[in-house]
Amino acid sequence: MAASNSNPVRIVPLGGLGEIGLNLLVIECGQSAIVIDAGVMFPEERAFGGGLLIPELTYVEEARLKIEGVILTHAHEDHIGALPYLLKRFPVPVYGSEITLAFTRRNLIEDEFTGADLRKISPGMVLSLGPFEIEPIRVTHSTPDSLALAIRTPAGVIVHSGDFKIDPAPVDGVMFDTERFARLGAEGVELLLSDSTNVERTGRTGSESSLKPILRELISRTRGKFFLSSFSSHLHRMRQVTEAARDAGRYVVPLGRRMAESVRLGMETGQLNFPAGTFIDRAEADFLEPHKLAFLASGSQGEPLSALARLATDTHPQIRVEENDVVVLSSRFIPGNERTINTLVNHLYKRGAEVFYDAVAPVHVSGHASRDELAEMIGLVRPKCFVPIHGEYRHLSRHVALAIEAGIPERNCFLLEDGDTIIMDGGEIRRGRVVEHGRLMADGDELGDPDLLRERRALAHDGTVIAILAISAKTGKIVAGPDLLSRGVANGDGTSAHLARAKAELTGRINRLIKADGANEAQLKEEMVRALRHYFSDVIGKRPIIIPYVMEV
Ligand SMILES: [Zn+2]
Ligand SMILES: [Zn+2]
Repeated sequence: MAASNSNPVRIVPLGGLGEIGLNLLVIECGQSAIVIDAGVMFPEERAFGGGLLIPELTYVEEARLKIEGVILTHAHEDHIGALPYLLKRFPVPVYGSEITLAFTRRNLIEDEFTGADLRKISPGMVLSLGPFEIEPIRVTHSTPDSLALAIRTPAGVIVHSGDFKIDPAPVDGVMFDTERFARLGAEGVELLLSDSTNVERTGRTGSESSLKPILRELISRTRGKFFLSSFSSHLHRMRQVTEAARDAGRYVVPLGRRMAESVRLGMETGQLNFPAGTFIDRAEADFLEPHKLAFLASGSQGEPLSALARLATDTHPQIRVEENDVVVLSSRFIPGNERTINTLVNHLYKRGAEVFYDAVAPVHVSGHASRDELAEMIGLVRPKCFVPIHGEYRHLSRHVALAIEAGIPERNCFLLEDGDTIIMDGGEIRRGRVVEHGRLMADGDELGDPDLLRERRALAHDGTVIAILAISAKTGKIVAGPDLLSRGVANGDGTSAHLARAKAELTGRINRLIKADGANEAQLKEEMVRALRHYFSDVIGKRPIIIPYVMEV
C-alpha cells in the first residue's frame, strides 16, 4: 500500500529498549493501537528484596487509544509476564501461538485472572486489527512456537523480529522461515525492529540440538542421580534431556510445581511427546535406584525457594544430592545473579555432586541471534529504516552500527530508548515526542516498593544513626543528650571518635538554634538530621539514614 500523509503510524516503545526484559511496544495509527508483548523484568538488586518490575502504562491510559489487541511473540516471562497487569486496565483480546497461549493461560490462572480472551494465531494466517494487518512468521528461539510479526500499516510494512536466532537444526524440526522474510524484503519493508540481546557475540549462536551429544555423554557417565536445571519454559532443552535420559534407561522426574506444570503443557502441546511412564512423580522415584533417575529442577538462576536451591542446601523435603550425583545448570547466568548462583554451585559441591555449567562445559546454547545472524536478518528484510529492540543501551548502539555496516543509511537508523517515539509518514520516518514511561513494581507488592528498596540499600551501604535529645518543656533547653546510637557507621561500644565528634558538633548547633529564638520539635529534628548528615558525609563519605528523636520532659 502506498504511504499517505493522512495516516501516520507511530511506534512507541514502553519497555525493552534500554534493558533486557520488560518488553512492550505500542504501534498506533489514528486512535487505534496494537500492543506487542507485555513482559516483566527482574530487578537488578534482588539482594534487597525487590519483586518483579513491569512497564508503566500511563501513556496508554492518557492517550485514550483504542487497543485492538495484544500480540505475544513467545512464551518467555519478559514478553508475557506483565499481561495480567495490562489486561486489568485494558481487557482486550490477546493473540499468540498455541504454546505461548498455553503458558499465558497458566500465568493468568496463577494470578487468579479470569475471563481473558485468548486467540490463537499461527504462521500463514493474517490477522486484521483496525488499520493493521498482522502476519505471524516462524522464528527459532529457546522456547517453541516463537513468532516474528509482519505488520502492514497505512504507512508501510513493519517487521518485528520477536526474540530469535536462526537455528539450522531446531529440536522440533520447525525451521526459521528464511523464505518468508526474503519475500517480505522483496515486497518492500519500511521498518525492521530487531532483537539486540546477543549483538556482542561474533559469528552464529549455534543450534540448540548441538547440546544433545553433550547431555547424552554427561548422563551416560553419571553413576548416581542426574539433575538438570533450566528455565521451565525451555521445552526444547527439556525434550533433549528427556531423550538422553530415556536412552540411558532413566525415568524423568519434574521437581517443583512450575516444572511439573511445564512438563504437562509440553505433553499437551506435543512438544514432549514421549511414551507414558517416561515422566514419573517424585513419590515414585523413592522406589528407584539413583542411576534410574533424572530430575528436571527449576532454579537455575539461584531463586531462593526453588527446587535447586533446596537441593543445594539439603533442605529439600524428599530428594538429596549426594556423592556420584551430577548437576547441570543449563542456562546463562543472568547478570546480577552470578554471586547467588556461584554460592549455589559451591553448596552442590559440598553435597558431593559434580556440577557442570556454562563456564566449565558447553551445557547451554543461547536462544538469541549473534552478529552474523543479525546481519542475515537485515539482509533478508532489507528494510528502509531500522530500530534495534530488546537490549541495554550498549546493545542497541552496537546493533545500529551493525545495521549501518549492513548497508542501512545512518540517517535511517534510530536508536530509541523507552518512551522515545518515531512516526512513519509519507514514506519517511522522523522522531516524535518523548512519552511518559517507567518501571513499576508488580501489583500488591508492598515489600518491593521502590522507596523501601532505596532505604534498604542505604541501610546496607551507609548504616543508620539514631540521635536522641531531651529538652525541657518549660525552658526549651537541653536536659539530656544528644546521644547518638549507630549501626553500620561507627563502633557501637562508645569508643568511636567519629560519634564523639559528631555529638560535639550537634550539641553546638542545637544550642545555637535554641539560643537564637527557641525551637520547636520539628525544627530540632531538622537541624539534627542536617548536622549529622553533613558531618558523616564530609568526614567519612557516608550518607547514613538519620533518625532523630526529641523528647520533651
Ligand atoms: Zn525470549
Ligand atoms: Zn526476550
